[in-house]
Amino acid sequence: MSKLKIAIQKSGRLSEKSLDLLKDCGIKLWNGDLQLKAEAHNFPVEMLFLRDDDIPHYVEQGVADVGILGENEVWEKDKNVAILKKLGFANCKLSLAIPKDEVYNGLAYFENKRIATSYPRILQSFFKKKGIDVSIEEIGGSVEIATGIGLADAVFDIVSTGNTLIMNGLKEADVVAKSEAVLISNRSLDSDKHAILDKLLFRLQAVLSASKNKYILLNAPDSAIPEICKILPGMKSPTILPLAKENWSSLHSVVREDAFWDVIDQLKTLGAQGILIIPIEKMVI
Ligand code: ATP
Ligand code: MG
Repeated sequence: MSKLKIAIQKSGRLSEKSLDLLKDCGIKLWNGDLQLKAEAHNFPVEMLFLRDDDIPHYVEQGVADVGILGENEVWEKDKNVAILKKLGFANCKLSLAIPKDEVYNGLAYFENKRIATSYPRILQSFFKKKGIDVSIEEIGGSVEIATGIGLADAVFDIVSTGNTLIMNGLKEADVVAKSEAVLISNRSLDSDKHAILDKLLFRLQAVLSASKNKYILLNAPDSAIPEICKILPGMKSPTILPLAKENWSSLHSVVREDAFWDVIDQLKTLGAQGILIIPIEKMVI
C-alpha cells in the first residue's frame, strides 16, 4: 500500500512544532528518535527528517511527497513545488537592516550598497523589481555581524523580535516579506498519494481552525439574546438553553480568537454574565 512521505526539519526551530502538528492530526509515529525516517502506525505516512534547506529540492524530485518548512526557504530555493497551506507557526519577517546611526530615507538608500544575506535570490528579485542596483554578499549564517566586520553596508535576514539586530548595532529599515511555516507538495502525486494527502489536509484544517477559535458559554437575560446572536453567529447558529432562573438563558457558540476581547466587551455591555471560554480541540466545519 502506498504511503505519503512527509519531510520535516531534522533539528531546528520547525522540528518540534511540525511533529506536534502531525500529532494533533492523530498521526502516531513508531520511532520518535528522529533518525532519518519514521513510520506512523495508524496513518499511511512516512516521515523523513532532513535539513530544511533541502526540503524543496527533495519534494520537487519526489523523494518526499510533501514537506513542512518556512515559506522563506521555499521562495529562496524557487523549486517547482506547490504551496498547499499556511500552518500558522514560525512567523517571521525578512527585513533589511542598517547600522543604527544611519539615516534611512527609503529603499533608494540601498543603491550601490553591499548587502549580506543567506537569501540572495529573494533579495535579488526584490531589488530588481524596484530597479535598484545592489551588490549581494551571500553568507551561510551569522549575517547580523557582517556590517560590524566590514563585509557589508547592510544585512538582509530573518527578524522576529529584533533583539539580534539591536545587539549587533543595527536597526530594521524595511520589511521585504513576511513568512510562516507552510505545507508544500510535489506537483505530480499519483491518485493513491493524493487520497492520503486529502485526508491529511482535512485533519490539518480541523486542527488549524480549532486553534483559531474558542468555545464560549454565557448566561444572558432573554431580552438580550437577539443582539448577542448577532455578534456570536457561531458555526450555524448559537445554542440557546433556558436557565432554571426565569427569563434567563445560557448561550453556547464559537468565537474567533483574534476577535475575542472585542466580543467580550460587547457581550458585557449587552448584559451577559458568567462568560466561560473553552479551548476547542478539533473543529470540522
Ligand atoms: P537547518 O540546519 O535545518 O538548515 P536553519 O538554521 O536553516 O536549520 P532554523 O534556524 O531552525 O533553520 O529556522 C528554520 C525556519 O524557522 C526559518 O527558515 C524560518 O522560516 C523560521 N525562523 C527562523 N528564525 C525565526 C525566528 N526568530 N522566529 C520565527 N521563525 C523563525
Ligand atoms: Mg536551513
